Amino acid sequence: MSLQVPEDGTLLPLMEEFYTIQGEGYHSGKAAYFIRLGGCDVGCHWCDVKESWDASLHPLTHADQIVANAEQYPGKAVVITGGEPLIYNLDYLTSELQKRGIKTFIETSGAYPLSGQWDWICLSPKKFKSPVPSIGQHAGELKVIVFNKSDFAWAESHAQLVSPGCKLYLQPEWSKSQEMIPLIIDYVKENPKWEISLQTHKFLNIP
Ligand code: SF4
Repeated sequence: MSLQVPEDGTLLPLMEEFYTIQGEGYHSGKAAYFIRLGGCDVGCHWCDVKESWDASLHPLTHADQIVANAEQYPGKAVVITGGEPLIYNLDYLTSELQKRGIKTFIETSGAYPLSGQWDWICLSPKKFKSPVPSIGQHAGELKVIVFNKSDFAWAESHAQLVSPGCKLYLQPEWSKSQEMIPLIIDYVKENPKWEISLQTHKFLNIP
């Protein structure tokens, strides 16, 4: 990645931001302001935001501006996603959001060390670049994308790395949904510590 981003986290490559409904995981159904940062080197072949990968395509934007934009909306929660948002130092952005009473949620593969102050961490580990080991203990939810049958065993291996209270979700990869949903249903019935997460925003036709 050629983009030089200041290490203090005041400038971040912003791909898009929008007010919508969180479609998946623990906060599914809640209004939230999405902040999508550019840059990801995890390389999931089924990634549905490949245009986020090259950070240099996305304008460096001052965190104060992002906070001011988020403040305009009645839903007082943000979801910081990507790309892989933990490539960047998120301390400044998240502390400024929290100062204004805005809850901070993150969606991360965990491939980079944790920064930022979080009200909720969704860890969604990927096979293509392992999460840093310590991050599992901070996760409020573990969300594993199921692309094929072997992903159930892989999900269990990651469930060992999170704290006892962490919510556990299995979510079908969108293009494999028809094939994977019946398997996930059977798996959750047999292993009820897991719950099903669906990308409901795709059914609702919202971003
Ligand atoms: S970690 Fe997320 S943004 Fe990065 S390649 Fe995988 S699905 Fe895409």
